[in-house]
Amino acid sequence: MSGSPAVVLRLVASAYTVAEKAGDIVRMVLHRGELGIVEKNGANDLQTLADRLAQQSICASLSRRFPKITIIGEEDLPAEEVPEDLIENGQEDEILKKICPAEYSGVKEEELVVWVDPLDGTKEYTEGLLENVTVLIGIAYAGSPIAGVINQPFYNYQLGPGAKLGRTMWGILGVGAFGFQLREVADNKRVVTTTRSHSNKLVTDCVNAMEPDEVVRVGGAGNKIIQLVEGMASAYVFASPGTKKWDTCAPEVILHCVGGKLTDVHNKAYRYDANVKHMNSAGVVATLRNHDDYISRVPQSVLRALTSD
Ligand code: AMP
Ligand code: MG
Ligand code: MG
Repeated sequence: MSGSPAVVLRLVASAYTVAEKAGDIVRMVLHRGELGIVEKNGANDLQTLADRLAQQSICASLSRRFPKITIIGEEDLPAEEVPEDLIENGQEDEILKKICPAEYSGVKEEELVVWVDPLDGTKEYTEGLLENVTVLIGIAYAGSPIAGVINQPFYNYQLGPGAKLGRTMWGILGVGAFGFQLREVADNKRVVTTTRSHSNKLVTDCVNAMEPDEVVRVGGAGNKIIQLVEGMASAYVFASPGTKKWDTCAPEVILHCVGGKLTDVHNKAYRYDANVKHMNSAGVVATLRNHDDYISRVPQSVLRALTSD
């Protein structure tokens, strides 16, 4: 091979360091103590200074290096000059050394869509449930999620000083997923993870229909996928509109890379083209294994209530 690495590799290598910088920002804002909370849509849909600064940093850094890529961020922010100290120019060299799968080697910048959740788990962030927080950068090509980066800024924070704080996971379909140790739930137990702050009757009915051995309620879409790949849960079940494309794009890739699957409650994949609607209207069922089994237990009442895109 000659010349510079494929765009997909260069984008993921940049997104890796950009997500780390966003993680620094998320920690810095908490450390300073002035969260600047704004209610976007009531008390269960919040934005903080960390969401705003992290998104500015991610979007400005990536669009400066990849000007033709479509970047869609969660937060609605005024178009203004982003301060230079928010710009991240680094790249993760290990990613640049990987071999780009043949189907992505000719992909052009303008064919890629980047979905950015600068801070997933904002509610939990404001409540001090810090391990639930992630930074999500998902990359889609031809409507499908193909690469993603998840930074978990407060990983290890309970261990106190001395432990390395924060980590970054990344994956590209056909290359693999890195930055964590794949584990499965012991003894084939059915451990269902779901929302802790956006529940309703459909959500609980669907969780109960899974006949779980255990239910875990935690914040964040990114965090719940981490639970799946690290053996803390066997299925993420959320039978409600609520998550958006920026919540599921990067996590879906990490899950796919290790043989898992993420669909709506009808077993239909979401699409991530630039013009799709942002809401995942027909909920989320994500599993590491046995996807069809979980799907087969979704109640008719849920299927009737939630329509696929
Ligand atoms: P949760 O599992 O409740 O932490 O939600 C995962 C992601 O989806 C987070 O980014 C939430 O903000 C978002 N989300 C889920 N349900 C809702 C909702 N009803 N309103 C606003 N955001 C939601
Ligand atoms: Mg989110
Ligand atoms: Mg968010």
